[in-house]
Amino acid sequence: MLKFIIITGGVISGLGKGIVTSSIGKLLQARGFKIQICKIDPYLNIDAGTMRPTVHGEVWVTYDGGETDQDLGHYERFLNRELSKQNNITTGQVYLQVIQNERSGKYLGSDVEIFPHVSEEIKRRIKNVAKDDTDFILVEIGGTAGDYQNIPFLQACRLLKYEEDLPVIFVHVVYVPIPAHLGEAKTKPVQQSVRFLWEMGVAPDMIVCRSERPVDDVRKKKISTFCNISSKNIFSSHDVKSVYKVPLLLEEQGMTSQIFEKFNIENGKPDLDLWNSLIEKINSPKKKVKIGLVAKYFKTGAFLLPDSYVSVVESVKHAATHLSIEPEIVWFDALEIEKKPELLSEVDGVIVPGGFGSTGIEGKIRAAKYARENNIPYLGLCLGLQVAVIDFARNVCGLKANSSEFDVGAEHSVIDILPEQRELLKNNDYGSSMRLGNYPTVIKKGSKLFEIYGESIILRRHRHRYEVNPKYHVLLQENGLVFSGISPDEKLVEFIELPEHKFFFATQAHPEFSSSFEKPEPLFLNFVKSCT
Ligand code: GLN
Repeated sequence: MLKFIIITGGVISGLGKGIVTSSIGKLLQARGFKIQICKIDPYLNIDAGTMRPTVHGEVWVTYDGGETDQDLGHYERFLNRELSKQNNITTGQVYLQVIQNERSGKYLGSDVEIFPHVSEEIKRRIKNVAKDDTDFILVEIGGTAGDYQNIPFLQACRLLKYEEDLPVIFVHVVYVPIPAHLGEAKTKPVQQSVRFLWEMGVAPDMIVCRSERPVDDVRKKKISTFCNISSKNIFSSHDVKSVYKVPLLLEEQGMTSQIFEKFNIENGKPDLDLWNSLIEKINSPKKKVKIGLVAKYFKTGAFLLPDSYVSVVESVKHAATHLSIEPEIVWFDALEIEKKPELLSEVDGVIVPGGFGSTGIEGKIRAAKYARENNIPYLGLCLGLQVAVIDFARNVCGLKANSSEFDVGAEHSVIDILPEQRELLKNNDYGSSMRLGNYPTVIKKGSKLFEIYGESIILRRHRHRYEVNPKYHVLLQENGLVFSGISPDEKLVEFIELPEHKFFFATQAHPEFSSSFEKPEPLFLNFVKSCT
């Protein structure tokens, strides 16, 4: 029978609920269970596509073209499998559906209400992520207990249990602060957060405490006493060197046995051999590399927010782990690189990740130029391909080149929008004007790219509007730029390379959405290798 594990958060946001959810998923998967994970985002946006990365973090792209919350990325990286856009539910999707139902007469005669109509739609969507063979659905409810945005979702999950009599447990992930002036872990915020859940009619079955240091038995006892949960169902998820250690941390504390006890099922042994061997490599790296990321969405006020590039950073880490290398990510502001590209001489390799709009563009073009001219390994991701082509057109082919995204009147728009996308933009249809999700690339035999992938057709995820302008394909190639991956109709450039260079590859795709801890993406693997 399909079982449900609902994960809620308490005290503050940004706790790493997604990592705890992914870890529980991994532990169940390692015992052979078939699982689905679904993320609920209580905002009114239909999806994350139109959100600013500095506010919301990275937009994750699913194979079927969904633009979702970055937690889906964590799930895929831990589980080493693909999840659909249906695995991300937002308030916007739910209300839109209910209103459409009402307009089309589906509820004829009823007052359409949050309960039962909205909660029914939420339950329907949650159950909809299950496949025929699914054993467990993990549902992570975004936000924090006490937010009124997530009340309908909490209620819907409660109703799964008490109205539909389905096997459901609630896991509450909470913050346990250790104020510096006290030096002691305080549990009061946990107690208050659990009270918010009680007000909603939800009594958590388990508590996962996020803290800087391990939460000890004294604190667990206190939480147990005030929150009506036995100490054996209270777990510590303290800060660790790598997020991939969290499944092991929870396993050591017996979390899976407790989950099985609650559902009355037998506890098997997990197969975590590969996982453990990778953690060993993280514990004792043989080399170090410095990777420069030339970025623009990583500062909010006085704080760094590398979340905007989480998949790129994780893909580097996956590759490095497999190679027993410890990577250090060095952040460069594209605006500074515009003035001082030589700052990049300090790193072993350069990544120019994706992005939109003209801010910092000249800096990114200079980064591509600097890496090209100084034989520094270069990996360009989407926008990173476009700036590499602009640099090549300007400095090798001698054109006054740009992308029409940054300069509509450029003399040579070597990067230009496709006519179909232009139509959508004219109508302000920003929500659906991109080339999204998986598209195939045909890899040229004999290219270095073919050596990397070892196959002639690959699928990678996309999220962009602009392309290498077909008018310049011949000129760019005549000057030595190799189009080593193209679309099957031969119209679009998917991958470029410079064969004489130590490592110079860029792609219109986002290979960072195809990397997992157990299976690094080949382009990243070869990039990190070339940096040593
Ligand atoms: N802004 C560019 C485009 O839309 C690149 C997008 C990206 O890097 N994801 O084509």
